[in-house]
Amino acid sequence: MDKKVKKSDEEWKKTLTSEQYKVLREKDTERPFTGEYVDNFNKGVYRCAGCGAVLFESDAKFDAGCGWPSFSAPKGDESVEFKLDTSLFNERTEVLCAKCGGHLGHVFDDGPGPTGKRYCINSVSLKFDEKESKK
Ligand code: FE
Repeated sequence: MDKKVKKSDEEWKKTLTSEQYKVLREKDTERPFTGEYVDNFNKGVYRCAGCGAVLFESDAKFDAGCGWPSFSAPKGDESVEFKLDTSLFNERTEVLCAKCGGHLGHVFDDGPGPTGKRYCINSVSLKFDEKESKK
């Protein structure tokens, strides 16, 4: 696996927008149905907005109706990491970029399909890379 990206808060503030910094580094959540990628179903890959690592593929994206981009699985086993989040009433599983530690969102066990997982991810944490359409 690639080397981890480590930056100080000051360095992150220089490379991220204030919105990105709030979510990726301070674990904020964008308001539902406001994110750039909620209704994006084009073919491509979703990279970490902090470090550029590929995190999700469009094939795993589905419409969960929850207001955030939702995926059934990350790209590969090593692109994301998990952490127990007890900050609200329920225990939730936080999803982080494995390369830079950026906060992406949470994963829940109510997803459709074979994995049963719903990766509920902030648009702000992602950068979409569109594949050229073959049609
Ligand atoms: Fe990252």
